[in-house]
Amino acid sequence: MGYDARSSLDDLNGRDADLLRQKYQRERDKRLHGNRESITELTGDLRRYLDDTYTPPAARPSIAENADEATDVLVVGAGLGGLIIAAELRKKHIDRIRLIDAAGDVGGVWYWNRYPGVRCDVESLIYMPLLEELDYIPTERYAKGSEIRQHAQSIARHYGLYADALFQTTVTGMKWDNADAQWEVSTDRGDKLRARVVVLAVGPLDRPRLPAIPGIETFAGPTFHTSRWDYRVTGGSPDSDPDQLADKVVGLIGTGATALQCVPVLGRVAKKLYVFQRTPSTVAVRDNRPVARDAFTHEEPGWQARRRRNFTTLLYGGSVDADLVDDSWTHVWREIAVNPRFRGLAADELEHEKEMADFRQMEALRSRIDELVDDPDTAERLKPYYRYLCKRPGFHDEYLQTFNRPNVELVDTNGHGIEQVYDQGVVVNGEKILVDCLVFATGFETNAPLTERIGFDVIGSSGTRLSEKWKDGLRTLHGFMTAGYPNLLFQPAQDTQAVQTVNLVDAMCESAEHFAYVIDSTLRRGAAWFDVEPSAEEDWVRTIVEEAPDNSHFLQECTPGRKNNEGHPDVQPLGNKNYGKGPLEFWEILATFRETGLLGLRFGDRL
Ligand code: NAP
Repeated sequence: MGYDARSSLDDLNGRDADLLRQKYQRERDKRLHGNRESITELTGDLRRYLDDTYTPPAARPSIAENADEATDVLVVGAGLGGLIIAAELRKKHIDRIRLIDAAGDVGGVWYWNRYPGVRCDVESLIYMPLLEELDYIPTERYAKGSEIRQHAQSIARHYGLYADALFQTTVTGMKWDNADAQWEVSTDRGDKLRARVVVLAVGPLDRPRLPAIPGIETFAGPTFHTSRWDYRVTGGSPDSDPDQLADKVVGLIGTGATALQCVPVLGRVAKKLYVFQRTPSTVAVRDNRPVARDAFTHEEPGWQARRRRNFTTLLYGGSVDADLVDDSWTHVWREIAVNPRFRGLAADELEHEKEMADFRQMEALRSRIDELVDDPDTAERLKPYYRYLCKRPGFHDEYLQTFNRPNVELVDTNGHGIEQVYDQGVVVNGEKILVDCLVFATGFETNAPLTERIGFDVIGSSGTRLSEKWKDGLRTLHGFMTAGYPNLLFQPAQDTQAVQTVNLVDAMCESAEHFAYVIDSTLRRGAAWFDVEPSAEEDWVRTIVEEAPDNSHFLQECTPGRKNNEGHPDVQPLGNKNYGKGPLEFWEILATFRETGLLGLRFGDRL
């Protein structure tokens, strides 16, 4: 019988639930005791893991701008977030926009992540931004990374963003100049740039994460992180098989969303593939299909925003007439998070029903593994034992079957991770495993404070460093602005007093429209700057703390990972959270803020 995410295992009884609870707890505890540290700074020889293998370095003269030459808006980060902001600013006829990025082109994560098999894991029709504006329809429901990267380039061309963009350039510092009401921005290219407004659109997945495995620097063969795929070593390209691996033994560390996509290709091509697993992912049906070029020809304009909003509404508890995306994201979510059966239940009943629904879904996903993986022992080791939303859900139609190949071996580290790396391979469970090439699919540093992630500090109007202001926790208005740092906007990330949505692009689009409105209003008022009233900031921080949902029990019981700070959810300051009532209400708050004349901001002129 085929797998159907909507089927329920109604015969799950109280005893099964108890056994599952105990199993989840044992699996979690095992992982809590492993080494979950990562290397906080990639220095010395490890810097090679950050090298750009896609664009050769290009020299250029430094730029020194004076106050009269300031750009209107400098956007730090030329990924989808930065591009969407720039596009919204263009729609408001804002003239001088400068994108700046360490990469060699636009695209952000889609510039960096070119590993074999890379695809969008949210439907492209709601993920790829500005489709109507560019008159573009993705070729598949879950488009390839190269198609998304090319779309990012099309956006940059369409809105004329290349002319002033600076690539292969990293910001090293920012200081507010009170006299001219501008930001002074320095870079690693020796630039001294000037901008009236700065938007930090650095995205949550910009810093590759390397686990702190003893001996990691000693591996003698080729090694890289999936976000810096080295096609010089593997051959092929993001759209063709890495055929130079045909005579190589490849070790891939990690089994998250990235690994799910690249394992099937590596399994098909490599002489031998070892997949080193610490925690299995959930792997639901993907069901990718072509999209017809004329699929939306007869829709009223605005179809993309409506489709995007439909998906987010469904996932975050609003009511929708129809499930427009209708894929595994929405199917599973409807069962475990927003099931109509949950309506009207008292708190403890609701918690019980949600847990049972979760058990049923996870059992269904575990049965799918039994159906698709031939060897029962391998199947068992691939089974995830935790609640569905403890980790980023995974989707793939070939990942599990790849373990049926004779050249592919799952090396389960029993929750502990790799013990050691040595010059010729790795040590797992006390056993040495020889590999020719070692690939890290180990994710990104997402939980570090913003100033640590961006690698520079921001000095505000009173000379205070942002890292100093936020040292005991975030203080913002809506997660986007902070008092004492005029004309500075932050794109939302996880737990930054704003919201993030499963479809990251949705939150990017909403915030970009909001930012463009704030910047445009400031200019229309004839003001040189906006800043946050300290009292408005205090109110927002209080709202964040008061509205924070009490999910500490859920997070505490989750398997360790990014969602619960590697098993220690309690160490984050209380204010470092998302807005607790979800994106739909959050966007209502922003709309009211705009309609009521941006109450909570103050505006001023140059000194
Ligand atoms: P990830 O989800 O953080 O997964 C990292 C993997 O590395 C995990 O399986 C982790 O195990 C494992 N790991 C870490 N240290 C290890 C060690 N010492 N030994 C063995 N295994 C170790 O990273 P990712 O897969 O790159 O995904 C990151 C994010 O990128 C996702 O959450 C998603 O938002 C995004 N993404 C999106 C798409 C898309 O199509 N839009 C595609 C790929 C990724 P544990 O689970 O035990 O920590």
